[in-house]
Amino acid sequence: NAMNVDDRIFVAGARGLVGSAIARHLQTAGFSNLLLPSRSEVDLADQSAVEAYFRTQQPSHVFLAAAKVGGILANNTYPADFIRSNMVIQDNVIDAARRHAVRKLVFLGSTCIYPKLAPQPIKEEYLLTGSLEPTNEWYAIAKIAGIKTCQAYRRQYGFDAISLMPTNLYGPEDNFDLESSHVMPAMMRKFHEAKISKAKEVVVWGTGTPRREFLHVDDLAGAAVHLMQHYSHEDIINVGVGKDISIAELAALVAEVVGFSGEIVYDTSKPDGTPRKLLDVSRLHAQNWRASINLRDGVADTYRWFLNYGPK
Ligand code: GDP
Repeated sequence: NAMNVDDRIFVAGARGLVGSAIARHLQTAGFSNLLLPSRSEVDLADQSAVEAYFRTQQPSHVFLAAAKVGGILANNTYPADFIRSNMVIQDNVIDAARRHAVRKLVFLGSTCIYPKLAPQPIKEEYLLTGSLEPTNEWYAIAKIAGIKTCQAYRRQYGFDAISLMPTNLYGPEDNFDLESSHVMPAMMRKFHEAKISKAKEVVVWGTGTPRREFLHVDDLAGAAVHLMQHYSHEDIINVGVGKDISIAELAALVAEVVGFSGEIVYDTSKPDGTPRKLLDVSRLHAQNWRASINLRDGVADTYRWFLNYGPK
């Protein structure tokens, strides 16, 4: 069920961090029939709008990169939005794709689906072996339902849906809003603004000790296209780099790239979240794909994007 260059490829969530990177990657690779609707063209939470879109556009392949996402604070503050939006979007898109004879669908999950205290590095089979991290369990439960929907549709209908679990992502088109963003864009903006205003210190959330793995979204896009072409199985597959760093180390790196030389202080009244999140990527490597953008280059690339297009 691999894609040909003239197939009709629908990227759901094409304006977001992940979807826009997949669209760029497909364009560069010569795919010319891309369906990249914005939310005003098709609201993916509206079942009849999704149905009409599939009926009229007849996509052959779908990348399901549309989701309501946010950092640790947003997840904790708007649990109802996070569980409902994600359940509805994935349910509408997967079901319409199956009924309209889409040949293959790639579903994007997240590593927060794994147990809070999963052994590290995290293997795919640890899914559903323990309790979730409470700050994002609403989002995680929705994503687990998405994985199970893909597996159920494969078993019952023979529908070729695969599920990818990317680690923490960053890159162009990220959300730089300080309340709702993830840690990397938040740090970039805070350090940048502190540099401009010549502030003496920047406040980072939590203790600085949690460890996270960061994947540039262009690498994720490469993996998603590769797996669309070559992977066809109900088992989920982790997408990461297989290396992690502490939040304190990340802060030092981002400060250096941005050029902020003041002090970094920790606000321990903010949550740390999961202590460590490092993926086992051996299944991905066995598919002959590995990440190639190193963290420092990726952060520098993202900072250039932020300076050109980010919030002013
Ligand atoms: P998580 O990976 O789901 O926990 O999501 P985040 O990217 O939001 O947070 C990762 C870690 O970075 C957590 O330990 C946060 O407390 C920490 N962190 C430090 N400063 C910030 C910040 O300014 N914004 C966010 N979102 N997280 C921060």
